[in-house]
Amino acid sequence: MTAPDWSGQRATRCVWCGSSFESAGVRRRYGRAICGHCGSGTTDPVPTAESLDAAYGDWYWPEAGQRFSLVGDRLLRFSRASMASRIDRVAPAGRILDVGAGEGTLINALAARGREVRGLERNSGHASIENREIHEIGEDGGFAGIVLWHSLEHMGAPRQIVTEAARLLEPGGVIFIAVPNLASLQAATFGDLWLHLDLPRHLFHPTSRALQAGLGEIGFEITRVSPTRAGQLVIGWLDGMVARLPGQLNLYHSLRRRLARRVEVGAGKRAAAIAAGVILLPFAVLAAGIEIVSGRPGTIYVEARRV
Ligand SMILES: [Zn+2]
Repeated sequence: MTAPDWSGQRATRCVWCGSSFESAGVRRRYGRAICGHCGSGTTDPVPTAESLDAAYGDWYWPEAGQRFSLVGDRLLRFSRASMASRIDRVAPAGRILDVGAGEGTLINALAARGREVRGLERNSGHASIENREIHEIGEDGGFAGIVLWHSLEHMGAPRQIVTEAARLLEPGGVIFIAVPNLASLQAATFGDLWLHLDLPRHLFHPTSRALQAGLGEIGFEITRVSPTRAGQLVIGWLDGMVARLPGQLNLYHSLRRRLARRVEVGAGKRAAAIAAGVILLPFAVLAAGIEIVSGRPGTIYVEARRV
């Protein structure tokens, strides 16, 4: 694979632990540099704002709740409702902030449970979602829970985001994080083709261990780690398996609605990708089971309490 050109500079330090890549131990890979100190990946070269805008385009969130075809969007709403129920149970009484709120499915589910909610997301039309960054929220404290649901990996300064979250949480407040796990079996199996690398939109590629260690350093106490709750394990395997077939099939994009695709997928290739996905599904489920049992799941979910 040719090296990506996001018209940016080489990454010089780890976005998570801050270690300099000048020192020994950094491994440069396609589109990412692996930190010799903490093992996390930093997207490399660093994409410019323009190249990121182009990478997101208008396909990523075409219209609220209209990303996936088949039963995808319904499944998404169901899993967010389950997550909202957990957040409501685990966080102390008070407001919840959803950083990277997407189309607002999770905050809708939290509001339905009677929680006061705020969301942050760029270009959202949702009434409770503001187009601003976490450091622009002035007041210290005041939040009982902060959610980073598959959003921390999209941020160029994840360490600062979590530090800001610690500032905004009341003592005893809980941070809820779901991210891909670079130390997973599926990341190792598919390498540059791994779905959850999602270059250049993902700027940070944490390992489970590095994420937990960093949270501890910032002042959080880890209260729960789950290999299943962050979801997207089976699709990670299935997309990688289909991508390895001849014909350059792209299952993930084939499952999205037409307007929500980054690339146009022809009807024949779309049918082939979905057919291959159906056939390979049992193997993907098995592989996901193996990575869960082996302690190297494709995504991780961490809850941590601000002490
Ligand atoms: Zn590092």
